[in-house]
Amino acid sequence: MAKDSPPHSENLFGALFDDSGAGRVVPVLVPMPAPVPYSYKVPTGMHVEPGSIVQVPLGPRQVIGVVWDESGSETGLDPKKLKPITHAFDCPPLTDGMRRFLDWLAAYTLSPPGLVARMALRAPAAFEPEPMVEGLRYLGGEPERRTAARERVLELAGDGLSWTRSGLARAAGVSASVVDGLIAQGLFETVFLPPPPVVAPPDPDYTAPRLEGPQKEAAEEICHHVRKGGFSVSLIDGVTGSGKTEVYFEAIAETLRQGRQVLILLPEIALTSSFLERFQDRFGSKPAEWHSDLAPRTREKVWRQVTTGEVKVAAGARSALFLPFENLGLIIVDEEHDPAYKQEDRVFYNARDMAVVRGRIDDFPVVLVSATPSVESQVNALSGRYEPVHLPTRFGDAAMPDLHLIDMRRHAPERGGFLSPVMLRGIKKTLEKEEQALLFLNRRGYAPLTLCRVCGHRFQCPNCSSWLVEHRFKGQIQCHQCGYFEKTPDACPECGTLDHLVACGPGVERIAEEVERHFPEARTIVLSSDMTGGVKRLRLELEAIEKGEVDIVIGTQLVAKGHNFPLMTLVGIVDADLGLSNGDPRAAERTFQLLSQVTGRAGRSGLKSRGLIQTYQPQHPVMQAIVSGNAEAFYDREINEREKALLPPFGRLASIIVSAESRADAENHARALRAAAPHVSGVAVLGPAEAALALVRGRHRFRLLVHGRRNSDMQAFLKEMLAKGPKARGSVQVQVDIDPQSFL
Ligand code: ADP
Ligand code: ZN
Repeated sequence: MAKDSPPHSENLFGALFDDSGAGRVVPVLVPMPAPVPYSYKVPTGMHVEPGSIVQVPLGPRQVIGVVWDESGSETGLDPKKLKPITHAFDCPPLTDGMRRFLDWLAAYTLSPPGLVARMALRAPAAFEPEPMVEGLRYLGGEPERRTAARERVLELAGDGLSWTRSGLARAAGVSASVVDGLIAQGLFETVFLPPPPVVAPPDPDYTAPRLEGPQKEAAEEICHHVRKGGFSVSLIDGVTGSGKTEVYFEAIAETLRQGRQVLILLPEIALTSSFLERFQDRFGSKPAEWHSDLAPRTREKVWRQVTTGEVKVAAGARSALFLPFENLGLIIVDEEHDPAYKQEDRVFYNARDMAVVRGRIDDFPVVLVSATPSVESQVNALSGRYEPVHLPTRFGDAAMPDLHLIDMRRHAPERGGFLSPVMLRGIKKTLEKEEQALLFLNRRGYAPLTLCRVCGHRFQCPNCSSWLVEHRFKGQIQCHQCGYFEKTPDACPECGTLDHLVACGPGVERIAEEVERHFPEARTIVLSSDMTGGVKRLRLELEAIEKGEVDIVIGTQLVAKGHNFPLMTLVGIVDADLGLSNGDPRAAERTFQLLSQVTGRAGRSGLKSRGLIQTYQPQHPVMQAIVSGNAEAFYDREINEREKALLPPFGRLASIIVSAESRADAENHARALRAAAPHVSGVAVLGPAEAALALVRGRHRFRLLVHGRRNSDMQAFLKEMLAKGPKARGSVQVQVDIDPQSFL
């Protein structure tokens, strides 16, 4: 039986959820792209209410569904033909707030509600309660023969509490057979214990730091919102190392004191073991983690204990937003500007924006955190919709790194190299001081393009319009779109010439080769998301760097995030211009954010530090903003340009991506959709145009871009356009991306 149902549900849904007997019908959201829930009969004796998680027949299959609210359900059905619910799980129902959130998200993103609800049901094995654990309790009495080992056991068990067999043996430092011997003598009774929590409850007062000055003011402001209760959004903005984490930990403590749950969203949670440890130092225990690398058993336990309220704080990647908390009271979105918050697959949503919606629906505070906030959040803070909380300087004696641009036109690398002599001198000096250097290049592999020097043949993916990237460590050329790979060939497949293939441009592996040539004695390491060994190996490597066991780190944006390397005093950006040329309206903003974040890795422990930035465009506003440290001027300029062009947040965008196995099918469908667009003043449709990534996994892609004014009802417009347009047939697929981040 689902317990603790809120009392109002009986009143509100009394008519529909009438327990009185046969013929009762309820709407159930099933994991299908259907616009409304399907209707099912409730068998006599089964108790369900809105939010109950159930199993229902769907065609020949049994699927997981959620009993939904009456509004929007099917009408005019013959109750005799309806199928009954197969099973109601013994699991707390999804709360009213959670259901409204899922409905809202489905309507906003134009996604089928059933597919959205499925995101909240990602741990099917956790829908039934965890089994009780067998335990022991000491009944008193003496063993037949006293030994030192037995005495240790009885001394511990004498506290009258229950123990597991192995837990008692381990605590007493004896083998389990000693405990078994005592059980056999009838000194213990068997008891059943609730399953152990995945994490111990955090203690808000475990070790509170001393906050002073701006940190103290910031913490007080945010805690004030928590105490007052109700919806609010704060934006904590301050350079890396200014104490943003320290400040939001205080808001977490305040929420815990109120007995409510907290969600911390982080990009790439899997990699930040140092974050978990820091949380533990502050609260005495770790938060529960939620991300794709969790072992299935842990994942199920976390899901279950979040729904029962046992887990007080969960820290996770964007999908953690769909955890069905029992009593959520605060969401923190750390690195709120990070593109990883955007999901571009099935249901397209931005977890940062949806976190704000979640807070508004359930009426609690949301805290966004960043050293380089998104232009959207910055505008909201300026207009007073979000409360700005500013931390101006690094904590303690840690200074920001000294940043210099290297004009690559004047300080060109030697032939075949990519590092300027200025950069190489910088690395040399750093090594002489026995400090660490980080070289950043956001490109995996050895070289982004391979071609034949004889006939000019370029190696392209057979399924995508992208070049194959050489990965020399693995001896492969790979497609970064679809994962296609082949062994790096010796001969050109076009002209057959042997050994005349050249690698064009650098990836991190190639930079590592150059570094090793110049500094053969240095301990060099490459970190990128494709390295073998996965997250475990990466965590070990990060620890090794932290301990100073590595001299030069060469990495992709993986190294930009959250890590604290005390000996890192030089950060070199190999190609600062890389992100500027891809036709993305946020290119400048993204480059600014990424470069600030990477250079922010240096000098966090108080050592004097430097950042060297290789660029062919030293006059570019992004480069100027980075070296001058004048972020405000940069934001002013960006905001101004967005406002002039009515780009977000001053206007609204939606992308429609049409793909098909044949180019003509995709193009024709996109054109027909375009023709079906309603005429609404203030909304314009651009395209269709062939996508920059014209071919992905064998599918041809066309894009339409819908641009509206700030107050335009984009959803209504798109719905009408899709309804009037042709149905997607054959291999044609249509994806809608509201507030797109990617334009490829
Ligand atoms: P940010 O999140 O802005 O990058 P952090 O909160 O990580 O900054 O703080 C940077 C470093 O300074 C951390 O090691 C943190 O423990 C330390 N620190 C910040 N504020 C305090 C404080 N008030 N007392 C003690 N240590 C602090
Ligand atoms: Zn491919």
